[in-house]
Amino acid sequence: MEIPFNRPYLTGNELSYIEDAIWLSQSGGHISGDGKYTKLVQQFFERCFGARMALLTTSGTSALELAFYLLNLKSGDEVILPSYTFPSTANAIILAGGTPVFADISPDTMNIDPGEIRRKITKKTRAICPVHYGGVSCDMDEIMDIADAHNLSVVEDAAQGVNARYKRKYLGTIGDFGCYSFHETKNYVCGEGGALLINTDDPKINERAEILREKGTNRSQFYRGEVDKYTWVDIGSSYLPSDILAALLYSQLEHLDEIQEKRLAVWHAYYDALKPLEEEGRIRLPVVPEYAEHNAHLFYVLFETETVRNEMMAKLKNQGIHAVFHYIPLHSSPMGRQYGCVKGDLPITEDVSGRLLRLPVFAGIGLKEEDYINEKLLHFMKPCIVV
Ligand SMILES: *Cc1c(COP(=O)(O)O)cnc(C)c1O
Repeated sequence: MEIPFNRPYLTGNELSYIEDAIWLSQSGGHISGDGKYTKLVQQFFERCFGARMALLTTSGTSALELAFYLLNLKSGDEVILPSYTFPSTANAIILAGGTPVFADISPDTMNIDPGEIRRKITKKTRAICPVHYGGVSCDMDEIMDIADAHNLSVVEDAAQGVNARYKRKYLGTIGDFGCYSFHETKNYVCGEGGALLINTDDPKINERAEILREKGTNRSQFYRGEVDKYTWVDIGSSYLPSDILAALLYSQLEHLDEIQEKRLAVWHAYYDALKPLEEEGRIRLPVVPEYAEHNAHLFYVLFETETVRNEMMAKLKNQGIHAVFHYIPLHSSPMGRQYGCVKGDLPITEDVSGRLLRLPVFAGIGLKEEDYINEKLLHFMKPCIVV
């Protein structure tokens, strides 16, 4: 049996919505950005999730870039983020003129440790960027309290957190900004795509967000009839996705809970099968705090050592099961080493990243595939690991 690490789940309406988006261009609609489906998707996040304003973007990466441009960082301004994340989180800060300051994670959730945030705050700190790892919420009350006390902005990297919640609030709607990804490896997909959620109540920020996303022009205001010509008014880039992609995404969002339930079923099947091994102290499984309702974005196992993790990954691959690891900590990567941390500075991040293995999680895994994976996992894990 061959089980990929990920396979996008199709809901059935993808092609008809894409076709509709294309035909609309023949009767006054647009296949460029901000057409019918873009509006439907944005309204969905505003009405169902409670974002003040949602803007569809070309990727999670571009949503992060927009968020940090909107903070107007000055050279030397610092933003605290975990080192255990995807490079886009740090790149967005640097592109917007800021300096990333890497913090360690909590060993239970792999999310940024609020104590570490406190220790890393200086006179130059402007913002905190919590990353909701695996769609399991960071401790947002703690983080928002720290932000309030020090007058800092909060940009949530909720790329993995769509439809997950913190104390019933949707991830991405709690900080000043939230960033989603709809890359094909995420829970809801359109190939490449993202969204910026703006949760502040400042019309100037909303207006500037539209302008930065529209190549620095006020075209959005022009389309709404608020100005009589459109022109270059600010910096900006091309962050609007085609309405064709929005059509694909909308067909996924219509099945929001169905997709999540299927993923959760896979997640719980792993958890239940492996729990006895965790109780024997052989492995460690994900921890979901009381305040978090996660979205089963990923499932990981922590092994005793990097060697055991790598052996397990190879054995599973031999059986056609594609399990993967991540992240090389940003502070120890070639680019990240320029930002002041040295090996040993973030011990939990360094320890965990070598021992973690991700198992295939996607909505379309069949029962047979799931049984096969669990059988192989148990078979390989039983004899070899005694922590
Ligand atoms: C996927 C991801 C991103 C980037 O999203 P893209 O849509 O691929 O640009 C950023 N941060 C985190 C934590 C991610 O998982």
